[in-house]
Amino acid sequence: MPHHKPDWEAVLTEAGLRVTRQREIVFDAVGAGEGHTSVGEIYARAKRRDPSIRLSTIYRSLRVFAELGVVLTVPSGDGELLYEVRHASPHHHLICRLCGTQLPLANEIASNMVREVQRVHGFEVELDHLVLWGVCNACLSADVQSRHF
Ligand SMILES: [Zn+2]
Ligand SMILES: [Zn+2]
Repeated sequence: MPHHKPDWEAVLTEAGLRVTRQREIVFDAVGAGEGHTSVGEIYARAKRRDPSIRLSTIYRSLRVFAELGVVLTVPSGDGELLYEVRHASPHHHLICRLCGTQLPLANEIASNMVREVQRVHGFEVELDHLVLWGVCNACLSADVQSRHF
């Protein structure tokens, strides 16, 4: 696998950066949720542990984490970045544009797609984190219902 870095503290130390309490709070705040988390939510979680923490500290820490590859960034539907702790094994998501629901996408399904891309294009895909945007089943049914009334 291209990456396996659950030990973010070791990664920071290796890069010559200090593991500060504030960085620890920010990292924990990213990992506290399921899937991808917005900066606003990370800020809110971090503030619960350290009310004096500043938004600029959150942004700086996130940039460091993303550069070192211990945190993944995914563009949200509305141009914001979402953050997630990078996992050792491949994982994928389905995200609803309308309600923001995130569902796990089974690796077997993603692998099938990758095999097809390789077969058709002769292109070797490096797949460790796939995000598919769309409209979830609940929102689809709500939409269908609203069209009937
Ligand atoms: Zn993810
Ligand atoms: Zn939805």
